[in-house]
Amino acid sequence: MIQAIVSGAAGRMGGRIIHMMEGVEGIVLAGAVERPDHPAVGKDVGEVVGLPVKGIKVSGSLNEVLPKGQVLIEFTHPDPSLAHLREVAAAGKAMVLGTTGFSPAQVAEIHALAPRTRLVFAPNMSVGVNLMFKVVADIARVLKDGYDVEIVEAHHRLKKDAPSGTAIKLAQVIAHALGRDLDKVGVYERKGIIGERTQEEIGVQTVRAGDIVGEHTVLFGGIGERLEIIHRAHSRDNFARGAVRAALWVVPQPPGLYDMQDVLELK
Ligand code: NAD
Repeated sequence: MIQAIVSGAAGRMGGRIIHMMEGVEGIVLAGAVERPDHPAVGKDVGEVVGLPVKGIKVSGSLNEVLPKGQVLIEFTHPDPSLAHLREVAAAGKAMVLGTTGFSPAQVAEIHALAPRTRLVFAPNMSVGVNLMFKVVADIARVLKDGYDVEIVEAHHRLKKDAPSGTAIKLAQVIAHALGRDLDKVGVYERKGIIGERTQEEIGVQTVRAGDIVGEHTVLFGGIGERLEIIHRAHSRDNFARGAVRAALWVVPQPPGLYDMQDVLELK
């Protein structure tokens, strides 16, 4: 039985992960963490997430609960996530990291720490989106340079980072499939007299409204036709289920950095 710790336990994702874990065999909640000043600290985690009492108090410090778990599931914010990854690496444990919005320097540190842990790091843990990463790369390789690529992402009004980690990953896999450098061809804003669209550019546009859980469209625009691949998340449960699946998968793996394509055997 795998003992898992959930960080960000009172958050939108943390709560759904704890719910999802209830119905999955082979994994059990061993600890829950929140930021030290969060009102959930000291309360029973079942009470915090709307489940019966579980006999596990939410802790304000990962350090305190890490010895109880084999794997940390973290969906919080970039700074605490990185601090927690350092602790997990020092303890040689496993981690599933779903947080998005890391700076390039933070991503470099995550890559450097990964060999001291077993880490699944993925901006989107849904099965459908991970299949989409594969499909859009295949489409780009077939269409080559004749079709303009535009990505549109939409999320709820509370989301803090933009564009979404998923939209960035979609742009990265398409740029890679087309042999382009996303740092040079990514276009994230358009306004005013912008001139004609270049053939190489990959547009990434952001929508923020209401309670949209997450929507990603990749549009390949040709002359006389366009092809659109759309993923719509109806609830957070698909991400939460993916995170639990990743935790079960990663514990017995050799040290290193993995993503959901590894977990779902899509490589
Ligand atoms: P949220 O704001 O509802 O939850 C984040 C939680 O982290 C909060 O409860 C906050 O108090 C807690 N937190 C902050 N500092 C902490 C600390 N030091 N220790 C422990 N907990 C701490 O946000 P959310 O919607 O649950 O999203 C969290 C992150 O997950 C975001 O970066 C989001 O983009 C990402 N996300 C990823 C996926 C995926 O599939 N990878 C899916 C959805 C969301």
